[in-house]
Amino acid sequence: MKLTVLGSGGSAQTVRRACASYLLGDKILIDAGPGSYRNLLKAGGDPLQIKVLLLSHLHGDHFFDIGSLTWGMSFMQRTDPLTIVGPAGTSAMVKSMLSIANTPNSFMKFRLEFIEIRPNDRFTIDGMTMLTAPGKHVIEDVAYRIGDICYTGDTAPSDSIVNLAAGSKLLIHEASGLAENEGMLKEVGHSSSRQAAQTASRAKVEKLLLSHITPAVSNKENDLLNQAKSEFSNVEIAEDLLTI
Ligand SMILES: [Zn+2]
Repeated sequence: MKLTVLGSGGSAQTVRRACASYLLGDKILIDAGPGSYRNLLKAGGDPLQIKVLLLSHLHGDHFFDIGSLTWGMSFMQRTDPLTIVGPAGTSAMVKSMLSIANTPNSFMKFRLEFIEIRPNDRFTIDGMTMLTAPGKHVIEDVAYRIGDICYTGDTAPSDSIVNLAAGSKLLIHEASGLAENEGMLKEVGHSSSRQAAQTASRAKVEKLLLSHITPAVSNKENDLLNQAKSEFSNVEIAEDLLTI
C-alpha cells in the first residue's frame, strides 16, 4: 500500500514541514496536523475519496487541519459520511472545533461518524482490520497498525508499540530530539531518533521512517539520522510529500 507523507513536522510548522499527517492508499488519512490539508492537495490526494481519519491523540499539531479538511470537503459538495477514529474525547473535540469555527450547518452536507477507541483495540473499517496499542505520552496516545504499516503518534519508548509493530514492513516513529536530550524527552513523552531506532530493531521491522521532526532539531538532521543508524540501518527521515 502506498504511503504519502503529508506532514513530517512536529509541534509547529516550519517552511519545510507541515505537522503530522499521512495518507495511506487514497482512503485512509492518519492525523491532520496544520498545513497537511494543503499538502494533501499538492500530493494529488482527493478529499472526497477519504473514508476514515485516524487520530493518534488530541494535541493540536496532530489535528488542527480537521477544520481545513471538513471545510474543503464541504466546498467540494461531499455527501458521503467521514469516519473519525481516535481516543476518548475525539467526538467532543471535533464538534467543538467546528462550532468555534462557526461552521454553517447548511454548508456541511455530510455526516461525521465517530469511533472512540481504547488503546489495545481492534476494529475493521471498509474491510481493513486495524490494531491499536497505547503510546507513552503526556495525554492518551493511540498507535495504529494497519496491515504492514505501524504509526506511533507521540510516544516515549514503549513495549506495547514494540509488540504492535513486530514484523511490520514500515514503522513510522516519532523522533522529537537527539540522544543527548533523552532525559527531557522522557518527561514530555517523546523519543529520540536513537530510541525510535531501538524500537525498530526490537520489533524487527523492515524499514523505519523518522517523523515528527520539530523546529528544535530542524538544523540537526544529520545527527538525528546518524544516531538512529547506530541502532538500525534501514532508516530514513520523512519529508513532506515523500511516498513509500
Ligand atoms: Zn503530542
